Amino acid sequence: MKVKVLPDIVINQISAGEVVERPASVVRELVDNAVDAGASEITVELEQGGQSLIKVSDDGCGMQRDDALLAFERHATSKITCAADLDAIATMGFRGEALASIAAVAKVLLRTRTESQPLGTEVAIDGGVVRGVRETAAAPGTSIEVRALFYNTPARRKFLRSPKTETLRVKQWLIQSALARPQIRYRLIVDGAETLVLARAKDAVERARVLIKGTAVPVRYLGDRVQLEGLVAHPSLAQADSSSFIVLVNERVVSDRIVQKAVREGFDSTLKDREYPVGFIHLRLPASDVDVNVHPQKSEVRFRDSQAVFQLVREGVRKAVLDFKTPMSSALAQATAPYGQPRQAPAGVAMQAVPYAEDGVARYQSASALAPVMSAAAASQVAFNLLGAQQTALAGIDGALSAVGDSERRFVGDCNFTFSQLNLIGQVLQCYLVAELNDQLYIVDMHAAHERYNFNLIRNSFRTRNISVQQLLIPEVVPLTEEGVARCLEEQELLSRFGFEFEQFGPAEIIVRALPSILSATVARQVMREVAAVVCEGAAAGRVEERLDHIAARMACHASVRSGDVLSRAEARALFSALDSTEFSAACPHGRPVVVSFPRAAVERWFGRDR
Ligand code: ADP
Ligand code: MG
Repeated sequence: MKVKVLPDIVINQISAGEVVERPASVVRELVDNAVDAGASEITVELEQGGQSLIKVSDDGCGMQRDDALLAFERHATSKITCAADLDAIATMGFRGEALASIAAVAKVLLRTRTESQPLGTEVAIDGGVVRGVRETAAAPGTSIEVRALFYNTPARRKFLRSPKTETLRVKQWLIQSALARPQIRYRLIVDGAETLVLARAKDAVERARVLIKGTAVPVRYLGDRVQLEGLVAHPSLAQADSSSFIVLVNERVVSDRIVQKAVREGFDSTLKDREYPVGFIHLRLPASDVDVNVHPQKSEVRFRDSQAVFQLVREGVRKAVLDFKTPMSSALAQATAPYGQPRQAPAGVAMQAVPYAEDGVARYQSASALAPVMSAAAASQVAFNLLGAQQTALAGIDGALSAVGDSERRFVGDCNFTFSQLNLIGQVLQCYLVAELNDQLYIVDMHAAHERYNFNLIRNSFRTRNISVQQLLIPEVVPLTEEGVARCLEEQELLSRFGFEFEQFGPAEIIVRALPSILSATVARQVMREVAAVVCEGAAAGRVEERLDHIAARMACHASVRSGDVLSRAEARALFSALDSTEFSAACPHGRPVVVSFPRAAVERWFGRDR
């Protein structure tokens, strides 16, 4: 057999496989080039999901005639000139092969002009072969049309998904990249219709506010060496998959499991098990502290001190979620899903108010559930031992920062909402407290609110080993499965720290002698059975913290006022001040919102007063 050197066209087709997988990867390369060219406006047009046309236009520096031709040569790049710049190849992805690769597998038309030239250049290339070069009238900047993608590599064409799916991928990538470049105006036109316009924004947070349709709070840490900024959406907007949380490191979109995990832990107890948060964070740190390895398809990072980064991100997000006292703004939250895909519009709103008796006397059974809240509020000094928890969190940040070598430590929150300021109007639909303040109508889910408060109380007293326990006058026999009994006995020490005291009674029964005081004796049997179920599940799935949270959540649910309980005015007020004293008060331990607000304008819209 004779050894042959492959012709350039074939080489480019092969390397195109790496760079050009689908329309989104073409868009990615072309948009990156436009960014590098200093564009302040980038327009992406797609037809048939990019299969018949992908066009990217920019108002960047443009190219002169010679450069325009050279740009399609393999390894042609204006961005590195010598071997000393080799590092830049790895970190910034200047490999000078994107245009060559794209032109090898499509029909490409380039139009470009620099500001100083009166006329521009047009280059037509089909399957890597130059078909024509001519002078043309053109606006300063560059536009590249990519038609008939993979027309000469049918095997690759087969891997393309439906136009809808390919379009969605382009849109998702564009949104991610737009977050990294808030000062650039982006437009996406799909089959002739403008589907996304992002005006120039002053920073990524401002841009994200446009993208995330719903209540969100900023994450911000500004140090000398490290800066973290971001925006996280209310926990109740969480999604079933992780694609709605965007992570940027030094202006690049990356996928990093450690950072994602840190974000999730920052949300603490406000997310359900299989839910993922919505939002973004942008981490900026010195190039020497991070290795951004840009693979054509996905970007992975390696941090010099990943433990410090983990803690910084977790505590930054945690601080933002802790501050999440901003009420959920209802109209947006219900009408739109994160990143702007419309959900079903809310149905009509019907309310029937039950005015309060002004005596403030607890008249109903609910009084017992709220008694601890009431006495705490009466004591006016609220000692819930939250400080302990917060100090731990801050100690974590300290560690992270000294490790990253920062001197200045500053997390910035932007929330000044308090429940106690609300003017309480009444209780409606047996479950909601209605209030108003400064031209806003507020609706508080009293069960979710009380549950959140109790959950924190239980978890904090568990951590500080401060659970108060009541002996049952009549011990309660609780039937479980045999496995349930065995597992509860194994976890006896853990459960006793929660305040449960019990012994084995029969082969499939335990006898409960004491309960945490926060629970009423009437729910002993039910809570014990639920706790046993959590303990059994926990045998399979590992993380201790999560199991503790599940147990605390079961207890909190049973300790809280329920729909149907009627609260006195004093009880409702006590609940509000309890909420102000507690952490994560925007969402219950299942991630549902605690309070929703309607601005006057929204209410006026219901009645057509805005017309
Ligand atoms: P790389 O971006 O790695 O340099 P590409 O193949 O993507 O390689 O682009 C080759 C060269 O073509 C770039 O280095 C740049 O000089 C030029 N170029 C490509 N796109 C543009 C654009 N939109 N505006 C100005 N110059 C461009
Ligand atoms: Mg490039």
